Amino acid sequence: MPQLLRLLLLIPAVLTSCQRTDLELGTIPGQPDIVLVTVDTLRADHLGCYGYFRDTSPVLDALSEESLLFERCISPMATTLPTHLSLFTGLWPHQHGYVANTGAVLTPFTPSEGRKPISIILKEAGYTTAAFVSGPTVSRPTGIHSGFDHFDEHDAKSARTFEDRSRPGDTTVVRAARWLKEEAPQDQPLFLWVHLWDPHEPNLPAPRHELFTADAGLDELLTERGVDIERLQALDTIQLRRLLDADFARREPLPSDSEKPVVTLESLRSLYDRYDADVRATDDAVGALITALKSTDRWESSVFCFTSDHGQSLGQHDWLEHGTITHENVHVPLLLRFPGDAVAQPQVINQTVSLIDVFPTLLARMELDSSASFYAQAAGLDVLADSFDRPFALSQRSVRPTRWGAELRFALSDDHWRWYHVPGGSEELYDLESDPGERSDLAALHPEVCDSFRSSLRLLLSDRPYFLPEGTADDASRLFLEQLEAFGYTGSK
Ligand SMILES: [Zn+2]
Repeated sequence: MPQLLRLLLLIPAVLTSCQRTDLELGTIPGQPDIVLVTVDTLRADHLGCYGYFRDTSPVLDALSEESLLFERCISPMATTLPTHLSLFTGLWPHQHGYVANTGAVLTPFTPSEGRKPISIILKEAGYTTAAFVSGPTVSRPTGIHSGFDHFDEHDAKSARTFEDRSRPGDTTVVRAARWLKEEAPQDQPLFLWVHLWDPHEPNLPAPRHELFTADAGLDELLTERGVDIERLQALDTIQLRRLLDADFARREPLPSDSEKPVVTLESLRSLYDRYDADVRATDDAVGALITALKSTDRWESSVFCFTSDHGQSLGQHDWLEHGTITHENVHVPLLLRFPGDAVAQPQVINQTVSLIDVFPTLLARMELDSSASFYAQAAGLDVLADSFDRPFALSQRSVRPTRWGAELRFALSDDHWRWYHVPGGSEELYDLESDPGERSDLAALHPEVCDSFRSSLRLLLSDRPYFLPEGTADDASRLFLEQLEAFGYTGSK
């Protein structure tokens, strides 16, 4: 009974849930270490502390008992590089200019005034900055390494299979732990970013994490989510292979295009079992990182942030991977643990926030000279402040015409609704409270709600849009510019 179990699991959260004005806020003295964990492709609702019915996350569940847990954190895109850039700069994707992973192929991210990542802000404040990443879309060629003194990534130059293009989270954490023990300076504060890849396809968990097998709860969940085998069969061959064919990622050479996997109930059950095992692997890796921080006497005084760049469809809305902006793609976990008594913890925050708000919220609890320039550029806000007044979060779909068509699509989410808009085209409205699966479009019934969201989107998109330099922008960015202009917005507005 997944639904009943989820409700029971959420009871403690409901008891401690609060509005931000209930919080007693203080400032963390000195310069605390900041540890950021971003998990690629982790949807919030597959963690125990977010109500999942399987035991995927004992470490994170325990962490949530001493943290702020944000129930409604929304990612600005379900695409890895743009979302990480939004997290690091506090900017919406249209403000930092990267709206697809491919955008960095010809034009790697380069910091500039108004687009400084948190790594540079903290470095200017005297922090030692280090990153340990697991997957290719946040590797050095994208430019995301800017501002990091130490950048440790998976060497995929000789990769011959899909599996070889990334590395398991436990490998990444071992390297971070070794650095903490042997190289991290003891007399300087640290900003440590650890990026884990395990829930991202291909889902090939290690045997020790294969704890979940198809059960009645899973079948009920598939039904509840409206997963439709026939419609999934219409997806292109590469997506079916990446998600459903566990063998594909290890094959060399790659199979021919004519070998299209057949979608079955068994293959979907296997996908969920393997995905959940990879979530458990992530949980293990976070546990190992916390152990390493404790053994180097850094845990108690650290700010610890756990989040994800985006979710994963897993068959909902006739999609298996990510990139689209339905709820399962943009609802991400967010746990913030502050040292000392600067913030009363644990608490559940039930207002809608965005990943762009993470660092404005963290910096507001600290006293750093260099944070002023970050506040000046960031569209993100301190969500714990009484003055927090942005009631919605923006998401936009990747623009990647070669794979996903030329559709530009935005969504605004608030505590009640999600509204979708295609510039010059359709709009949809869903009641997330009564219809979390977004099946019943209510746009025609609530035109006044749509009008309000449309005005908000117009204001948001006209706020400091940034386009990659002329002549170097890739097709995806050029298309984004054209469609945005067709919607009535240019860089001068
Ligand atoms: Zn990602």
